[in-house]
Amino acid sequence: HCGFVAIVGRPNVGKSTLANTLIGSKISIVSRKAQTTRHRIHGVLTREHEQFVFVDTPGFQTRHGGAMNRMMNRVVTQALADVDVVLHVVEAGKWSAGDAQLLPLLPKGDKTLLVVNKVDALKDKNAMFAYVSKIMALHPYAAVVPVSALRGVQLENLLGEVAKRL
Ligand code: GDP
Ligand code: MG
Repeated sequence: HCGFVAIVGRPNVGKSTLANTLIGSKISIVSRKAQTTRHRIHGVLTREHEQFVFVDTPGFQTRHGGAMNRMMNRVVTQALADVDVVLHVVEAGKWSAGDAQLLPLLPKGDKTLLVVNKVDALKDKNAMFAYVSKIMALHPYAAVVPVSALRGVQLENLLGEVAKRL
């Protein structure tokens, strides 16, 4: 298995943290500031039977229509067209308008996985099912994978779901 994997989502959901943890080095820039990742950043994970090329993307935003945001959104749209698998990263329990704005751009069907990040920070674990059901009703995702990018939880499961689609 070998292929390109885009990591998309609104600012601050943990896209760069996920890319870093998956690849195992600091290839991307993690920050509280929304616009730290301005360009696509590629990182490669090579294993015995698989090779994944991860494409980190800027946080998708449409609210502020400035030239910088238009440029960054174009980067996201391009990244989505070029890859084999799309990881739409959201934050456990915190769905917002920024997440919803990305939905029309996501490829439909078997290419797009919903990655629910920051499960370590979720206070009410029972709320997870309702949260995920709500999002799954909005887009035909191929699968859902809850993870903690920061703590490295469930990443093997995530890579398995990706590998199935390469
Ligand atoms: P990006 O804007 O989507 O690339 O988000 P970043 O990777 O820059 O992360 C934004 C913030 O969320 C940083 O403070 C991260 O440390 C934090 N973060 C990322 N992943 C996790 C996680 O799994 N759990 C928790 N608790 N925080 C996380
Ligand atoms: Mg980032």
